[in-house]
Amino acid sequence: MNIPAIFLWALFPVLGACFGSFFNVLIYRMPREMSIIKPASHCPNCKHKIPFWQNIPILSWLFLGGRCASCKESISIKYPIVEFLGMLLGFLAAFLAGPSPWQDASLIRGISLFWLLTTLIPIFAIDFKHLLLPDTVSIGGVALGFAMSFFDGGIGILNSLIGIAVCGGGLFLFSVISSKIIKREGMGFGDVKLFAGFGAIMGAELSYISLIIGSFLALIVIAPYRIKAGKDMQAPLPFGPFLGLAAPISYLFGEWVVDSLFKFN
Ligand SMILES: [Zn+2]
Repeated sequence: MNIPAIFLWALFPVLGACFGSFFNVLIYRMPREMSIIKPASHCPNCKHKIPFWQNIPILSWLFLGGRCASCKESISIKYPIVEFLGMLLGFLAAFLAGPSPWQDASLIRGISLFWLLTTLIPIFAIDFKHLLLPDTVSIGGVALGFAMSFFDGGIGILNSLIGIAVCGGGLFLFSVISSKIIKREGMGFGDVKLFAGFGAIMGAELSYISLIIGSFLALIVIAPYRIKAGKDMQAPLPFGPFLGLAAPISYLFGEWVVDSLFKFN
């Protein structure tokens, strides 16, 4: 399903800012084990309910001068920054799907990139600090990927199902076996669900390439830091951010990697 790229250019930055607004809720509430639906957005200081026109990404914060409309308590600049980041990543997804606004772009490719890029925000913000991955992102990826596989331009229903099974199942087995060997909890179940989502969106092959890239990234970033900080090498490490970062890389360049590595003629 192809559409003029200009639609993605117009839609994705706005949608990205809205995603950012939702991620703010997720980032604040998930580590506190609060529901992400109830209660509705309110000022944490005076409990003033925030009407929708005071909840418009980026703009409301600017209009209100970064203060609660009711009690004037200052609202962290982290909120509009996350929304702005969502907007930038939305724009990046549109650009990668259709580098020129005057060409046609695959809608499924655009949505896939949009999802893989914007969800990096909660993955980084929550997993690094709390070693948690939100189901909204991981299970959401499985649902979105499977839904997209029905459409023209998607990877196909069978490929998506195989991706879910081979990625989710494979990492789950690895997690169980490795934790038996090292006799403590290994990879978190959040990573398993996140990886199943990648399988649903881009199929097993590209997902496993992202697993290799992600493991490599984790190794080169975490190992020197741990050695330098003299930290316990056995301590649990957040794998989600590295796996998450590897996904759009593999989505964009994975085919090319496979072709150049395994072409023998
Ligand atoms: Zn207030």
